[in-house]
Amino acid sequence: MIVMKFGGTSVGSALRIREVVGIVKSQLINDPIVVVSALGGVTDALIDIGKQAAAGKDVSLQLEQLVKRHYDALNELKLDRGIISEEMDKLGKLIGEIFMLGELTPRNLDLLMSFGERMSARIVAGCMRSFGLDATAYDAYDIGMITTSNFGDADINAYTYQKIRKSLTGKKGIPVITGFLGKSKEGDVTTLGRGGSDYTASIVGAAVGAKEIQIWTDVNGIMTADPKIVKTARSIDEVSYKEAIELAMLGAKVLHPKTILPAVENNIPVRILNTFNPQHKGTLVLNNSGTGSRVTSITYKKHIVAISISSPGRIEVRDFLRRVIDVFAKHDVPVEIISNSKTGVSVTIEERHETVQLMADLRAIGNVEAKSNRARVSLVGNDLLYMPDILQNMYSSLKSIEIEMISSSMSKKNKSVVIEEKYADKAVKRLHTTFFSR
Ligand code: ADP
Ligand code: ASP
Ligand code: MG
Repeated sequence: MIVMKFGGTSVGSALRIREVVGIVKSQLINDPIVVVSALGGVTDALIDIGKQAAAGKDVSLQLEQLVKRHYDALNELKLDRGIISEEMDKLGKLIGEIFMLGELTPRNLDLLMSFGERMSARIVAGCMRSFGLDATAYDAYDIGMITTSNFGDADINAYTYQKIRKSLTGKKGIPVITGFLGKSKEGDVTTLGRGGSDYTASIVGAAVGAKEIQIWTDVNGIMTADPKIVKTARSIDEVSYKEAIELAMLGAKVLHPKTILPAVENNIPVRILNTFNPQHKGTLVLNNSGTGSRVTSITYKKHIVAISISSPGRIEVRDFLRRVIDVFAKHDVPVEIISNSKTGVSVTIEERHETVQLMADLRAIGNVEAKSNRARVSLVGNDLLYMPDILQNMYSSLKSIEIEMISSSMSKKNKSVVIEEKYADKAVKRLHTTFFSR
């Protein structure tokens, strides 16, 4: 058994969906289970429609476009509209409710986003059937994807694997499962975080004991940098689980950060492949510690805020640090990089967090300065500590770009700098030239 997950671009149009069916057909011998994302751009569009409706705006035009996009795909694939009409009706009703409510609650946002994957799974399964395959669409929560109830970032429970395994055992044909979605014990639809269909694939893979988890996307596997920024980026044949986790955690969008864990725990290889170039071997992620000392990839993460809190001097250093950390814990805002000295502490957080109250609490401890529009740029690799001159080469390639924070801890897997966001692309390109073009 294998799991094959297809991302948004891979199922973005009738043409792409036909390609996907061809790819699945070529691997029937491996007994595939398919996981799909929403059609590319649909999740963003749904969020936008929800926000506008909550603000009392007329969203009928945008909704019509979204509906049309799905019906057009069905028409081109010569499939009956009926396979998604029920979902479409429910979506229309939900948007009406959000409009009446004048608010987009986290629960309604997750329910709203779920329609993207619910429609794509039905369309992809329909297309497979039209090509003679025995395929059935399943909403992940109907086959055991039970999650916690933190909307927008839900996670699985200890018994989720068992439930999924039980549901899928003995199912005939090819299951086509919605990525990204789950349901809480209370019965509310939840989502696993943006880009979470990768995680669905690895959860399902671990549940059924798959021999491989394939993540089909729009690039030739994990590359030495984001090819949208660095045109000369090349794909990497093999990376270890540890490198892949580090890469994903530090911003490489090609994999959702939680994807690797279920694979590691069950020693299942993960392969990243390109639907636009199915012959390319992509990247194999496996339990391989033999990569030696190397820089694997340059990653970046934008939309970061750097916050400095200076100590008023009358508090003991350790008490000061503890109080600062407690404030972030109280507001449930994860700190990413932290750098501490006798006179103060600097941290980075993601921009998406609500910070008004957090800032007020920090100001009660010391002087606070917050800089938004920051980016973190990282060298990710293996045993970086043992690479001579690595920091020197990093600094010299960044040249005039001011480095505001450095994270060069004992970690052997990354070296990161915080800079102004407007220089991020330039920094990634320069680092790539230094570490990969020589
Ligand atoms: P999908 O919709 O298939 O899940 P994503 O857009 O989530 O695809 O992820 C694929 C994208 O990740 C690529 O198009 C690429 O721009 C981006 N990316 C960022 N860093 C890397 C990297 N190191 N290697 C490959 N792709 C990367
Ligand atoms: N459709 C969801 C998103 O855009 C999940 C995914 O694509 O993995 O975030
Ligand atoms: Mg993705």
